[in-house]
Amino acid sequence: MLTELTDDPVKAAQFIRKGEIVAFPTETVYGLGADARNPVSVSKIFAAKGRPTDNPLIVHIADKLQLLEVARELPPFAEALAERFMPGPLTLVLFRRRIIPDIVTAGLDTVGVRCPQHPLAQEFLRAAACPVAAPSANRSGRPSPTTWRAVLTELEGLLPCVLKGEQSHFGLESTVVDCTGEMPLVLRAGAVTLEQLCQVVPSTRLAECNAKVRSPGMKYRHYCPRVNVVLVNSPQEIPMELSTRSAYIGLVTPKLPLQKTVVCEGLEDYARQLFEFFRECEMANVEQIFCQTVEDRGLGLALMDRLRRAAAML
Ligand code: AMP
Ligand code: MG
Repeated sequence: MLTELTDDPVKAAQFIRKGEIVAFPTETVYGLGADARNPVSVSKIFAAKGRPTDNPLIVHIADKLQLLEVARELPPFAEALAERFMPGPLTLVLFRRRIIPDIVTAGLDTVGVRCPQHPLAQEFLRAAACPVAAPSANRSGRPSPTTWRAVLTELEGLLPCVLKGEQSHFGLESTVVDCTGEMPLVLRAGAVTLEQLCQVVPSTRLAECNAKVRSPGMKYRHYCPRVNVVLVNSPQEIPMELSTRSAYIGLVTPKLPLQKTVVCEGLEDYARQLFEFFRECEMANVEQIFCQTVEDRGLGLALMDRLRRAAAML
């Protein structure tokens, strides 16, 4: 299949309207979308990604006013979160309406819904004029793409259209919050921090170990580059004999010369650069990637989740 590149969101949306799949930029990572109401279209996402069918997809809407088109109820605390963080990098898990078919939710009675704030994503969703189911636009298990070039590396020939935008602002996926219980439960740490959520709903908690059951996708290997990832507390832990064939990303500058070094300005910069750095390391054929650990708070919670998964520690 020929993969067409376009910077026209209306043209990209026409593929959705024809029942096809399209990759598009968002502020978190690039997504691979299809008409969420159409099971045949949605099945093309699973085929292109090689994604297990028991891993549900997030449904994207252009406006938070559409939440109740895909969900049957919005508890007051979920409404408060939507009011504060939508549009933005937050996914709410709500009881679904039947308009969303089983293939999207992996048979669950709930649906994950997100309203991206990226202007191109917004225009694309408005032109598609339907809820768009979209996971990240990578082959299953791989790091999420944060550039349109990375989407092509992952999926060229497997989809008919890529909507071109700039590099994703956050570089980390959305925060997934289960709103079907008494209080908000964070199933996946992401670009909206636990601290930010608690400012709006103080009873918000991390789901921790039961997240694997509640959020089926969390049980699979994720975000793994083809190069071995090792976590270090500081670049001084990098063995000298490995340094010339190794890469490093972190906040502290290493003293040794390495094959590839990225020193980030802070957590946001680290998050934004991580997945693209993994891809550059693959292309440069480095033997090991050393990633500096950060504290598990603020954006560091999501960053450490991705780092631990990339290092196959989760
Ligand atoms: P991805 O779009 O590939 O970043 O993955 C979507 C994430 O959202 C996965 O971890 C899913 O398990 C989770 N998710 C999507 N829909 C639901 C849902 N209805 N209930 C719980 N988790 C969900
Ligand atoms: Mg993904």
